Amino acid sequence: MLDFEDAPRQGIKPGSTSNPNPAGAVPDPFALDKQVEPAEPTGTDESVTGLEQVELGGDRVSVDDKRIINCRADVNQLVPFKYQWAWDKYLNACANHWMPQEVNMAADIATWNDPNGLTDDERMILKRGFGFFSSSESLVANNIVLGIFKHLTNPECRQYLLRQAFEEAVHGHCFQYIVESLNLDEGEIFNMYRELPSVHNKAAWALQYTQSLNDPDFQTGTPENDQKFLRDLIAFYVIFEGIWFYAGFVQFLSFGRRNKMTGTAEQIQYIMRDESMHLNFGIDVINQIKIENPNLWTEDFQREVRTMIDEAMHLEIEYAHDTMPRGVLGLNASMFDEYMKFIANRRCSQIGLAELYPGAENPFPWMSEVIDLKKEKNFFETRVIEYQSGGALSWD
Ligand code: FE
Ligand code: MN
Repeated sequence: MLDFEDAPRQGIKPGSTSNPNPAGAVPDPFALDKQVEPAEPTGTDESVTGLEQVELGGDRVSVDDKRIINCRADVNQLVPFKYQWAWDKYLNACANHWMPQEVNMAADIATWNDPNGLTDDERMILKRGFGFFSSSESLVANNIVLGIFKHLTNPECRQYLLRQAFEEAVHGHCFQYIVESLNLDEGEIFNMYRELPSVHNKAAWALQYTQSLNDPDFQTGTPENDQKFLRDLIAFYVIFEGIWFYAGFVQFLSFGRRNKMTGTAEQIQYIMRDESMHLNFGIDVINQIKIENPNLWTEDFQREVRTMIDEAMHLEIEYAHDTMPRGVLGLNASMFDEYMKFIANRRCSQIGLAELYPGAENPFPWMSEVIDLKKEKNFFETRVIEYQSGGALSWD
């Protein structure tokens, strides 16, 4: 069965340099046969940001000049593409455009306002989920814009990052819209990452990785700093969006399965579709950096990544117990322990690491079913806005 996070990765073609979802995980399938020539020594030259002085008579870009990090080729020339997978993800993401206010929240509002509509435990799980996601969307967006973008020296990947950054804005909007619709205490939700330890601890853990890139003196180009960049990609794409978000998705979608908070659940499905592409993009970028810089993927570094994932796992287990002190909606915290381990194993193999928790099984097989949006008869049949209607433009 096709799990959503493994949705078809269009644009990955035989012979492409992209990661075709490595099967055997270890040893590293990219290390030898697919290795490309190391980057030309660039002396004291820094990699480009795109804001350098423009030199009249400068060279046109050739595909062979392009690299994910430490590239010296002009990043203001989008084509020729080297990484077709990045461009295809950009196109797919645009085709999946949605806005929160398209989703009808009337049933959710009625349920929330009905004293018998939800139990106290159900209300808590929802509010804590809103609290976790609302600040997380912002942290992920800030990491893209302030941490990653400057150092990722490839224009087709930057094109996707710009789209992703907008999607994170839509996701932040989604939680604003839910808070407004349900008339929740906005401070309680949006400040939760400063008030509730289990939400705070995850944010604090991820922030350490983006802070090192946001240092104005930071630049890639040494193995140490290139590994810092990789660490940040792993912390945000693989762990934050690729592992932690999935616990929240299960919780929210469990309401939808029981026909409760269906407007919220619908928005979460759209977020999940976006996030699965963010995750797959991050994995492709990480694996491409490994191909181009095999020296970075040392035994020590792999050990460190495995430790990062294990630490993140313990933070998530703390969060699961905090949001579900008792069983609710057929869920309990120990099922989440198992689910997080199952998801973490998949993420490990996607970036070429041995599974951390052999034997972990998926306690939520329905997730594959619920989140496979392609099975829906018409995903956007209820949509009311024509985004490409020129007649809707107004200029005042
Ligand atoms: Fe997001
Ligand atoms: Mn995201």
